[in-house]
Amino acid sequence: MDAWPSVAVPDLPGSGEVLRLYDTARHEVRATTSGPAASMYVCGITPYDATHLGHAATYLAFDLAQRVWRDAGCRVHYVQNVTDVDDPLLERAAHTGENWMSLAEREIDLFRQDMAALRVLPPDEYVGAVESVPEITDAIGRLLAAGKAYAVDDDIYFPVSAAPGFGSESNYDRDTMLTLFAERGGDPQRPGKRDPLDSLLWRGRRPGEPYWDTPLGPGRPGWHIECSIIALNRLGMGFDVQGGGSDLIFPHHEHSAAHAEALTDDPPFAHHYVHAGMIGLDGEKMSKSRGNLVLVSKLRGAGVDPMAIRLALLDGHYRADREWTGGRLPAAELRLRQWRAAAALDAAPSATALLADVRARLADDLDTGSAIAAMDRWAAGALDAPTEAGETTAPRLFADIADALLGVQLPARH
Ligand code: ZN
Repeated sequence: MDAWPSVAVPDLPGSGEVLRLYDTARHEVRATTSGPAASMYVCGITPYDATHLGHAATYLAFDLAQRVWRDAGCRVHYVQNVTDVDDPLLERAAHTGENWMSLAEREIDLFRQDMAALRVLPPDEYVGAVESVPEITDAIGRLLAAGKAYAVDDDIYFPVSAAPGFGSESNYDRDTMLTLFAERGGDPQRPGKRDPLDSLLWRGRRPGEPYWDTPLGPGRPGWHIECSIIALNRLGMGFDVQGGGSDLIFPHHEHSAAHAEALTDDPPFAHHYVHAGMIGLDGEKMSKSRGNLVLVSKLRGAGVDPMAIRLALLDGHYRADREWTGGRLPAAELRLRQWRAAAALDAAPSATALLADVRARLADDLDTGSAIAAMDRWAAGALDAPTEAGETTAPRLFADIADALLGVQLPARH
């Protein structure tokens, strides 16, 4: 499937630092990769509704990871999926009477437009569940042959007992797992399962639901195995970063890792499990079920500069749950005007130390708040300084730092 158009990234002088990120599995911030290559898989959307600010914040966090890697000279291999067949999509289509494929196509297209407007670097491979059905069924067949999957009626389940490392990604205790499994699409009560935490690999054909005729019988894949196999077949075991929102820690990322580790007997699935916090509105997590979504496309349609949306979401740590309050956007718009004014100066004090500072802050678990504060200080100083005291190349370097490392485009005069 096509991703969105690539985004130009200016080259900066010198080279950035090794990216350190917080790993959910080990509870520590440590170096992601010290080699010349970095690999990342980020869970994509289920396309049944438009991109809201919570999605955007997650993809922006992993966009920054990619920018920091590139600035450090790493080649990046980035894969993202689209869950273009799954229960929420089919339920929405049934509710509105729309064909599920048309709904998915429309929402994927809108997501592409939102990502492009926000200057998010596209994945190298953008892969749908539907186009991956053959590789997923092949993997489930191999799990069955190895005794690491079992049938319940026409469905196929993964026994958590087949993955010795099960639990090591989330580190949750069994009660927490059971609670989250029930809340987030799992079926702990399903009769016939060996363990309530066993997850669905394959859903046999149901009346009125789409299905594929496969060696497993007619049906469609489960969500965890979809991500597991799309990542495994493109990045191999032991890739650098498995990313997503913090609501994917369990069961989704735990089960995706368990499936791949059971299939290959070659742990770990990923070296880092990285999770972005949730964006809240009026004290509640932004989510479809609560109906409190702020949509990127709505803001764009109302004439809001996507660079202001981007700055507003980056002004706060990616791991923290954050509130989208009324003041965030005006503050970001003011900041953008300041930065653009500074980038348009004929000359300004040197920005070389600023570059080192922003690089160091972002390499330290993507500390965007401190990086933005350093940019603010430089811009305020440049706007106050007498022009004749400065360097003519400094405003351009400032603009390039904003663009390359923060993804915020500031038209510069030079
Ligand atoms: Zn996923």
